[in-house]
Parts: sequence; C-alpha cells; structure tokens
Amino acid sequence: MPTAMNSRILGVLEAQEQRDGGPSTLLEAYRILLNVEAEARNYVAVDRHAISLEAARSCLYRGTPLLAFDDFSFDWGNVQRVFGEVLRLSSSHLSLTAQAAEALHRLSEDVGALRRAARDWYSGESLIPLATAYGVSTHALASVIANTMKPYLTAGAETVAQLVDQESWRRGYCPICGGRADLAFLDKETGARWLLCARCDSQWLFQRLECPYCGNNDQGKLSYLIDDEEKYRLYLCESCKCYLKALDLRHGGEEPLLPLERLLTLDLDRQGRDAGYRPGYFVEEA
Ligand SMILES: [Zn+2]
Ligand SMILES: [Zn+2]
Repeated sequence: MPTAMNSRILGVLEAQEQRDGGPSTLLEAYRILLNVEAEARNYVAVDRHAISLEAARSCLYRGTPLLAFDDFSFDWGNVQRVFGEVLRLSSSHLSLTAQAAEALHRLSEDVGALRRAARDWYSGESLIPLATAYGVSTHALASVIANTMKPYLTAGAETVAQLVDQESWRRGYCPICGGRADLAFLDKETGARWLLCARCDSQWLFQRLECPYCGNNDQGKLSYLIDDEEKYRLYLCESCKCYLKALDLRHGGEEPLLPLERLLTLDLDRQGRDAGYRPGYFVEEA
C-alpha cells in the first residue's frame, strides 16, 4: 500500500501529466519508484519495542542515531528484487550506463556483496573497495543503493520517530539513521528551520544560522539566495562550499509534499552548482 504522502504525490504527478499532455521522464521515473517503494514497505521490519524510551534518550544524548544497520531485519530476496527494479529504472530513465548496470546486476546476484554494499553505505564506510571489485563508479553504486534502501529506511524511521526529542538533538545528521539532509524548510508558524533526511525522510529541528554539513556558524561565511516569490531559499556555506535547498512555509499556501519538492527544486540544484557549490548530503568519494 502506498503511504498517504505517496498517494498525494501520485495524485499531483497524474494531474501534472494531464496538464502537460504526457509524462516527463523524471516524473515518470519518480512514479515508478513510488510504486516500487509501496511494494518494498511490506517487507520492512524494525521492532518498535526493541528500543525503550530510556535507551533512545541515552542514544540521542550521546549523538548516536537511533537505528543501526542491524536494527533492520531485511528480507534480502526482496532487497534483490527492489535493487533490480531500481537498476532497470536507472538505466531507462536516468543516466546509468549499460556497462554500470551490468556490473551492478552482477553485484546484486551475490547477496553477501549486496548486504555489504548496503551496510557500508548505511554506516558511512567507503564504497571504493566494492565498487572497484565490480568495476563500477562509487557514485553509481551509492545512487542505486540509496534508492533501493529508501523504502526500508523510511518505513523503519516511521516506527521510531516518536522517540526523538527534537529540542535536545539539533545536530547536522539525522537522529534516526545518521544520514544528511538534502532539503530544509522554515516552519509556518515560528520560522524554525527543519531538515529532511535524504535517506529516510525523517525531519529534525536545526539552527537557522549554522551549516548542517560542517558546523560553520560564522555569519560572514553563510548566506542564502531567495527566489522572487520568497518561497524557496538556497543556503550557501563558504567553509565547506555546500548548498542546501529550503522551502519557506511562512508565506502560507498548501501543505508541501516535501519528498516531491526535491524534484520540483532541481533548478535550485543547478543554481547551486553553477555558483560553485555542491550538495552537502552526498559525499563524493575520489
Ligand atoms: Zn535519516
Ligand atoms: Zn558548511
């Protein structure tokens, strides 16, 4: 079953397709991905009772995200199937080369290698050894793994979201999976800044005047660009040369579909890159 959020996103995509007289490649790819996600969510297992409120508090106090890789019980047969779907989609709709797709297909046939790729990616270990062994770029491996793991992480994160005390966290990485943010928003009522995890879609509260990627809070090295309608912002950090896209919800309007906003703001990514900055959530390995 698609989640309520995904159902709304699908509705918006369908309306847009009707207006445009046909699907855009990217939106179509996104729609296929949502369907794959809906299927994968049936196979997620994170035991919500495995973490007590007290254990969660102590974890968060130490700066440790709530879910370690081993807290998920993955059905690896299902992960293999989802990986295959993501691979097909990346080859047909995104820019994955046939050679890379073939290498990644070989990797996924070995459950041990697939598990290791997922674990290393989740824990922030280098993907270079595995990528090299299969003759594929770390970027391609990381992208396909990230899209494959997304539904499991999102569903797992939902089961423990209530355990996060927002006021006491306020770190630059996700309190649930440890991932980085790829989108932010300014709260409608208070203007407080929230970050959205690129990996599991969790939201967490973070300082307005600090870079979540490098911790820089020197106001002389932080800036942002605003669009004409003041709906979007692009935060820029001179210390780490990263950018962060954001929505300003203080000006009203409909409740945004945050996961979809990632795609609707691709022009902001272009602006950030053109100005010499990189997306802070993606660690590019040399
Ligand atoms: Zn996360
Ligand atoms: Zn920074």
